Parts: sequence; structure tokens; C-alpha cells
Amino acid sequence: MPSMASFVCRKLHSRHSNIMIRFFSSPPVKNQRIEKILIANRGEIACRIMRTAKRLGIRTVAVYSDADRNSLHVKSADEAVRVGPPPARLSYLNAPSIIEAAIRTGAQAIHPGYGFLSENAEFAELCQQEGFIFVGPPPSAIRDMGDKSASKRIMGAAGVPLVPGYHGDEQSIDFMKSEADKIGYPVLIKPTHGGGGKGMRIVNNPDEFVDSFLGAQREAAASFGVDKILLEKYITRPRHIEVQIFGDKHGNVVHLYERDCSVQRRHQKIIEEAPAPNVADDFRSHVGQAAVNAAKAVGYHNAGTVEFIVDTSSGEFYFMEMNTRLQVEHPVTEMIVGQDLVEWQIRVANGESLPISQSEVPVAGHAFEARIYAENVPKGFLPATGVLHHYRPVPVSSEVRVETGVEQGDTVSMHYDPMIAKLVVWGESRGAALIKLKDCLSKFQVAGLPTNINFLTRLASHPAFENGDVETHFIEHFKDDLFIESTNNPVLAQGICDSAKLSASIVVACLFEKEHAAIIKQPPGGLSMWYGCPPFRVNHSVKRTLELEWTNEYSDSSPKLLKHSITYHPDGLYIIETGESSLNLEIDYLGSDEFRVTTGGASMDITIATYFKDKDKHIHIWRGSEHHQFKQKLRVDWSDDVETHTKSTFDTTAAHPPGTVLAPMAGLVVKVLGKNGSQVEQGQPILVLEAMKMEHIVKAPLAGIVQGLHVEAGQQVSDSSILFQVKEK
Ligand code: ADP
Ligand code: ADP
Ligand code: MG
Repeated sequence: MPSMASFVCRKLHSRHSNIMIRFFSSPPVKNQRIEKILIANRGEIACRIMRTAKRLGIRTVAVYSDADRNSLHVKSADEAVRVGPPPARLSYLNAPSIIEAAIRTGAQAIHPGYGFLSENAEFAELCQQEGFIFVGPPPSAIRDMGDKSASKRIMGAAGVPLVPGYHGDEQSIDFMKSEADKIGYPVLIKPTHGGGGKGMRIVNNPDEFVDSFLGAQREAAASFGVDKILLEKYITRPRHIEVQIFGDKHGNVVHLYERDCSVQRRHQKIIEEAPAPNVADDFRSHVGQAAVNAAKAVGYHNAGTVEFIVDTSSGEFYFMEMNTRLQVEHPVTEMIVGQDLVEWQIRVANGESLPISQSEVPVAGHAFEARIYAENVPKGFLPATGVLHHYRPVPVSSEVRVETGVEQGDTVSMHYDPMIAKLVVWGESRGAALIKLKDCLSKFQVAGLPTNINFLTRLASHPAFENGDVETHFIEHFKDDLFIESTNNPVLAQGICDSAKLSASIVVACLFEKEHAAIIKQPPGGLSMWYGCPPFRVNHSVKRTLELEWTNEYSDSSPKLLKHSITYHPDGLYIIETGESSLNLEIDYLGSDEFRVTTGGASMDITIATYFKDKDKHIHIWRGSEHHQFKQKLRVDWSDDVETHTKSTFDTTAAHPPGTVLAPMAGLVVKVLGKNGSQVEQGQPILVLEAMKMEHIVKAPLAGIVQGLHVEAGQQVSDSSILFQVKEK
């Protein structure tokens, strides 16, 4: 068989035009120190790895798909190579194309980041066969840990505590049922080759077992190509605590303490912290030692994470799985131990020993990471797509990190993970770090697409979170406090509504003032808030009315229309009347998006960002710890010096007949299960959409006949496009 290198070189001639290379280098020389590294990934983790590589004087090679041609990770690298079209399987998962890029640029090492090919043993092997240093563990360890049941057997033999359960090869249904009965209900069914929480099922009593087991088998076969199942005791109030370990090629393994990643949605982490709150010192040293034993049992080197599940009722911890790569949340560990784990990875890959021993691992303070996602919180955290019209992360310092792979103007596409940034903060204590986290979240400005920032702020401010009472059902447990509109806490709901109304009044005055400033400097033109109005007469008092639609991102319920009447006096005072109240404001426009608002002798600086989308003007305001979002249709009635009415400019009745189903997110149709003309039951699956890491089943909203279903598997659909209708008989 020709080697991959010759295969790749032949291929190169035909694909030359696809490759963007700024420097050409000689082919890799084996077994030398890394001077040039290719990062087989994208987004924030690619940028993160490059930052350390640059500090070490190592040149960097980015790879990119057509969707990422102009993205930050490409701009940040010394060289960049196209590896394929947007779908990950054709680009970031395209091993030959990535190896080809490494050969072409003369990189000596390949860093896989996380996700994509990072836990693919064949890829790690291929890198080594082609003479590249794979910055990661040995392929054998990736393989041992990739199968949850095999890894449990190895861990059991190494004396690492396991969740009571069954992880053997015998899979007949009667046998499995008898094992479940032995374990005792509730039992958790898990695909052995699973990930991302897919295919897992909780069985509460013996009667449910058979259906759940068969369902899990089907889902596992479809998602992972292997229908093997393992059984575990379902722990009802668990915490997810994981340990960062590190090994070198000389047999040394240390742990860098633990992280708590209990706060999850859809079995995916959103806020992580280190060290884990409310755990005793002896727990900390036991779990750390268990993780070191786990790593030693598979001959591990480089960075790895051993995940444990902790039963909060007994305090026992059990091995769950090992992730054989750098983890998304590694920065919280870096912050408390003051080490750069990517530097450690590179040094270990170079064959160096670990820089410190277990007793020398320093640990200080507390760190949090909040994952900022483009996602639709009220729609069950479905991934969102769109343009980052306004993107202003908080300033970074030695105590605040922003790990990101995007810039203002970039698009979050449906092809990849919808994470926008990771906000990482450090404080001397958990309390000090938490104050910083909340402050930074409230100042982290993103506009253009829905994000989870407000939700994260609410989460971080919750008294139970402040106490460190975290467990994996935290969000579900406190949903009434976290999802405002579904809350039966009227004080909270009223508070947020009042704050939105006040923000709307301020927005109206600020935008008036900004326009005023612009008009004094230059004649009006283009689409403005006061579209259709004649130029201002500066020495007149002016009265206008304006309606803003409040985009209440906490809930899916219909948005609220806020009506304002605004009077501007030539002495600089604005009077905003809303029917319920009247507010006097003075506004100083500070330039760009910044304003100083004064009312009753108190001043506050605020930011207002605007952009146009779908013929609407979208307006965001950041005011203290509040962030609100409004929409204005570009059709306003106006008059000067007279009382006036504004007719409703919003079409509040959505013009879709009952039974119409809209796409809940932008995505790819992967399966069409329904047929036009067929009779369906309410809740019956009609099609399956996929975007980023998520599969979403679109169901019939009512019983009836399916009509207008014209999408096909493989077709892209945009958010809120019409998918089909179910007509009642
Ligand atoms: P962690 O335990 O480090 O949080 P996750 O299971 O959440 O790991 O996955 C880590 C990251 O890997 C995700 O946030 C995502 O960016 C990426 N990832 C995981 N699976 C995929 C996939 N199938 N395609 C693309 N990226 C993926
Ligand atoms: P994945 O490969 O999908 O990450 P894991 O085995 O790591 O699968 O489990 C994912 C999540 O499911 C955990 O973080 C935890 O919230 C929950 N979980 C896993 N095992 C159990 C269990 N035995 N009891 C209760 N919850 C569990
Ligand atoms: Mg896991």
C-alpha cells in the first residue's frame, strides 16, 4: 500500500488551487522538537492553542473549511490550509486532508483540540505513522477509554470505584432484565459507545424495562453504529466531579485537582468551577488518587480527564468515563494551579518530563467558566444561528479570560458547535470569583442572535448556586426561578417587566439624542428611528410617539408592545410618558454606542447597540446588570408640537393556519418520517432536524392529516421556515 504521504502528494496536484499557503517548508523531520504545529480544529480552542504555541516561539498552522475562511483562528495562524467544504465530516473530520495539510506546511506536530478527531484512535495512529507527533495520549489509551464498558472493566481491575451495574458482553433481554432487577430501580441504560448524553434512558420500575431497553438499542445503533448497552444504578441527585490528570512519557502521572461540572442542560455542561465547592479534603485527595490510578491503568500520557459521578446522599464517588483529550473547561484548572496546560501538552509531546511533581502542584483561589452559547433558551436551549452584529466581550486581565474564536460581524453557522465564547474568572475565594462572574456576564455584550447570557446571569445569581448546592438537575429543579415567564413568582416577573419598560424609555430618549447629535453635524439621510420625519428644528420642543416591541427572551410567549410618548425640550430635558408613568431624563451622547443617562440627579453609563434585520430595527440596551432587547418596525407616525396617536405598527397575529409547524431552528433535515396525506397522532414524529451537535425531532402538533410536507432529507431549512401542516379531520 502506498503510504499516506505519497497518496497525499499525488492528490495535491489536483487540489493545488484549493490550498492557501503563505509559506512553504521542507517535509517534517522525525523526532525533533516541535517548531511548527498544525491545529486540527477551529474556533476558540484553535485560537487558545495558538496563543500558547506563539508564546513558546512555535509557528502555527490553521486548517479551515470553506465556512471558516475568514474566521479568527485562520487570521491568528502563521499559515492556513483549506481542508474541505463546511460539513465537518468533509473538513475537520477529514483525516487525509488534515494530514495532507501537515505534510504540505512542514508541521512536526498535530494538536487535535477537543471534539472532532481528538478522541479518534485511528487518527492518532495515522499521525504517528506519517511521522507527526500527535499532541495527545497514546492511541491504545484512547481505544481503551472509548468503550464505556471496556473502560469500566479496566477501571474495576485497577480498583477505581464503579457505579453498581452491569457492563458485560451478554446482551439478551432476559439476562439484562435480571441484571437490572439485581441492581435495583431506578436503573440507567447507556449505550457503551455513546456520547453527548444520547440514547441514555432512566428506567423507574421493572415494567418499563423492556421498552426502554429496546428503544436505547435502536437509538444507539442509529447514532453510534453499535447497539451494545450497559446498565448502571441511576443516582437520583448526583454531582458531576471530574479530575484533570496529566502524564508524561516516562510513567509520571499527577492530578491537578478537580472541577465541578454539575450544572448542565441536555447533559451538557454550561458552568464549571474549580475546585469543587463543599467537598472535604479527604474526598479531594481520594478522588484525585483514583483518577491517577485510572490514568496509570491505561498507560496514559498527556492531558486527560477522569469523570466521576458523586452520590450526594452517600458522598460516594464512582468512575463514569475518561475523556482522552484537553477538556473544554480546562481553563478553570489553569486558573487555580497557575499553569498553562497547553504548554504542558507540548512539552510532554516533546518527550519532556512533567515540570512538577504531585506535591509541588500549587493551588490557590477559585475559578468559574461560563459557556456563552448562541442558543434559544426558552425553546429548550436549541442551538441558534445568526450574525454577531454587536460583539463586545469584557476586557481581559490576569483574573478574567475570554476564550473565543469569533469577532463582531462573524456568523455563527449551523455547521459547528454554537459556543460563542468561554468566560473564565478567578478570585481569591469562591465568593470573590462569583461576584466577578456575575459582573462580567452582565457586561458581556452580544447582539444579533439569541444567547444564553441572561440565563447564565440568573443561574450565577441563584441563592442555591451561591451556596454551591449544585447537582446535575439544578436547572430542572430551579426552573421556576430561572425561566422568568414560566415562574409562579410574580414579584420576579414584575421586576423584570418594570426594568424592561424603564429600559425602553431610556432607549427612546438616547436614540433621539444620538440622531439629534448626528443631525446637527450633518443632514439626515438613510433609515432612522424617525424614518419619514422632517429634519429637527433645534430650538423647538418636539413631541413624538414611538412603539417598541419587547423581545422577552426568557419566554416563548408573545412579545409585549411598549408605547412611548416623548417630549424633547430645547433645554435638553426629555420627558417620556408611557401611559402609566412619566420620566424625566437628561442624555449625554458619549460617542459610538455609549450614553450617560441622568435622572433625579443620578447618572449611569449605558450601551445601546442597533442593527437591522428582516426590515426591523433591533435595539439592545445594557444598563447596570440588565440587558434588554427591543424591536421597532420601520413605520412610525409623527407630528411636531402636537398631540398625536400612533397606530399599531405591528402585525401581532401570526398569519399561519392552525397546525402549521415551523422549523424550531436552522438545520439540516436528516430524516423525513411523515408523508403527505397520512393520518398522524398528536406528538407523532414527522421529521428529524440536525444542527451542530443536536438532533431535534419535529412532531405533529395535533392529530390529523399531514399536508404541505415538501422538505427532503439532506435539505437545509432556515429558522422559523414552514415545514408542514397537520389538518384536523
Ligand atoms: P467536555 O466534556 O469537554 O465538555 P463535550 O462532550 O461537551 O466535552 O464536547 C466537547 C466539545 O467538543 C464540544 O463543546 C464541541 O465543541 C466539540 N464536539 C463534540 N462533539 C462534536 C461533534 N460531533 N462535532 C463537532 N464538535 C464536537
Ligand atoms: P457522555 O458520554 O454522554 O458524556 P456520561 O456517561 O459522561 O456520558 O454521562 C453524561 C451525564 O449523564 C453525566 O454528566 C450525568 O449528568 C449523567 N449520568 C451519567 N451516569 C449517571 C448515573 N449512573 N446516574 C445518574 N446520572 C448519570
Ligand atoms: Mg461525559
